[in-house]
Amino acid sequence: MPINAFNRLYMGSAAILTYHMVVDRDTYAEALNPIRRSMVTLERFEEQIRFLSRRFTVISMDELGEAVKADGAERYAVVTFDDGYRSTINNALPVLRKHKVPAALYLTTSFIDEKRLWWLEAHDLIRKETGISARGSDFPCSAGNTEQMEETLKGIIMFGSASRENQEAVISALKDAGARPSAEAITWDDARLLSGERLVSIGAHTHRHLILSGLSESEARADVSHSKRRLEEELGKPIRHFAYPFGGAAHAGKREFSIAAEGFETAVTMRRAGVHAEHLFQMHALPRYPVMQRDTPLLLGARLSGLEAFIKHRGRRVVI
Ligand SMILES: [Zn+2]
Repeated sequence: MPINAFNRLYMGSAAILTYHMVVDRDTYAEALNPIRRSMVTLERFEEQIRFLSRRFTVISMDELGEAVKADGAERYAVVTFDDGYRSTINNALPVLRKHKVPAALYLTTSFIDEKRLWWLEAHDLIRKETGISARGSDFPCSAGNTEQMEETLKGIIMFGSASRENQEAVISALKDAGARPSAEAITWDDARLLSGERLVSIGAHTHRHLILSGLSESEARADVSHSKRRLEEELGKPIRHFAYPFGGAAHAGKREFSIAAEGFETAVTMRRAGVHAEHLFQMHALPRYPVMQRDTPLLLGARLSGLEAFIKHRGRRVVI
């Protein structure tokens, strides 16, 4: 199949990209997975944004529906950031401004309300070789064994994301173990500053960042709607876009899509694929590509061509 026809079929009209933290080289080098996997260095970020702004028309989430509907020869990209980190303000925003690239920021409101970015607190604690236990589950730390430290960190994150009770137990265990508030945590003043940026649109990412599929329907709905309400109260504008925490098939499915549809115009998952015309009827199950440190412009271009998604999804264009 000629590459142009292939691109047209599998890349789709648009690619939505996911970032978390944009950090300096030392922070990246010292970080443990899975946190490190959600970081890119400032240098790499600027390379990627420069590449995107040259190769694609970078648009906002508000413009996505119209762009996909037009289905012309143009290819679009949407840049998104999840969770709400200080590094987005300090490092990413100046680059976005320089290249005039719009971005959606999906904020987790309990991180702001309670000033507890608990998984980064756990990360920093484990790097100092301290383990915790919560609700009878032990998360020991083996000094010097990076692989095991990373396993422990992953265990804490998944345990603390399973229920409100687990999360509260993790937060209090971290406190007892001497964890300090993360420097990456943002305040409502920061959120207002971001919200006032012309290039930035703020979306919701739930209140507690729990795995929605594991909650009862009423708990899931309450966590989603509470984040929308808090953002609207604090920022004084309607919040129209949403991102599912984790966003894989195991974390958000049909039930979560219909909950998001009650309060938002769009909702993004972490299913890796391009956005196609068929998504106009699936605006609450939009796919996204994670962007990583290894993504040089060349690799990023190859991934966004749709080839990876074609292989992974065995030729299916729309993955629900
Ligand atoms: Zn998240």
